[in-house]
Amino acid sequence: MSDLIEPAADVLSTAKRAVALTGAGISVESGIPPFRGKGGLWEKVDPMKVAHIDAFLDDPETVWNLLIKDMKTLLDTARPNPGHAGLVDLERLGILKTVITQNVDGLHQMAGSSDVIEFHGNFAWQSCLDCNQRIKTSQVDLAQMPPRCSCGGILRPDCIFFGEMIPQDALVRSQRVSAACDAMLVIGTSATVQPAATMPYIAKDNGAVIIEINPEPTPLTSRISDLPLLGGAGSIMPRLIQAIRRRRASP
Ligand code: NAD
Ligand code: ZN
Repeated sequence: MSDLIEPAADVLSTAKRAVALTGAGISVESGIPPFRGKGGLWEKVDPMKVAHIDAFLDDPETVWNLLIKDMKTLLDTARPNPGHAGLVDLERLGILKTVITQNVDGLHQMAGSSDVIEFHGNFAWQSCLDCNQRIKTSQVDLAQMPPRCSCGGILRPDCIFFGEMIPQDALVRSQRVSAACDAMLVIGTSATVQPAATMPYIAKDNGAVIIEINPEPTPLTSRISDLPLLGGAGSIMPRLIQAIRRRRASP
């Protein structure tokens, strides 16, 4: 729905405290498959078998083999794409204040976004289940499955599994910035994982305009999205930025 890019640029070019809520979809064009949607990991495995904390604690070797190993291999080399870069442009234009991300890939920070709330933790570090020692994921040796700390304890990523609590500070700050924003960009999330999916509702209830970027409709699209931009983040974001810059150049 490219005809909505101009109205979305109108909204954003006058916004002063926009917030973005991002999900796995913004990183698809960086080569990281999402969980749901086309080509998603969950077409192959049962989420409750691999991404639940009980599954991990019961059988860490299987969860490392089915989920964490591939994630590490992908994230070791993944780089931000024009979707991430567009959010950095929006911040530099004085429009966007904060990125709330459900992603654990660190690509927003790598692209240059300065205020990123990691709602589900991050994958950059691992912790030992026994002694809590932390080690960089990039330094984990995959020859041994599951990988272990020098004390012999099993390593787990610093992101949260299903069945675990959202970090309290991330939750509280996300709710606060969502309630205070004048526009919310909802990019690449299926808006089905709670409580992240409530943030657009908090924003909408407090008067924000909801702009959604996703190649497929989500539960938000017909309910609360004011401007659904149908397409991939890597192609929509540069067009949106260009339309905003045109307005700034000739007010
Ligand atoms: P999701 O996997 O449930 O949904 C992905 C969404 O992205 C879908 O709606 C899909 O239509 C959309 N999408 C696909 N390609 C896109 C593109 N090019 N541009 C924009 N949108 C696109 O993702 P979710 O809602 O974030 O929930 C999944 C959970 O899995 C999250 O909690 C997240 O922590 C985790 N996860 C993270 C990563 C990562 O860090 N990159 C990857 C996979 C899963
Ligand atoms: Zn240890």
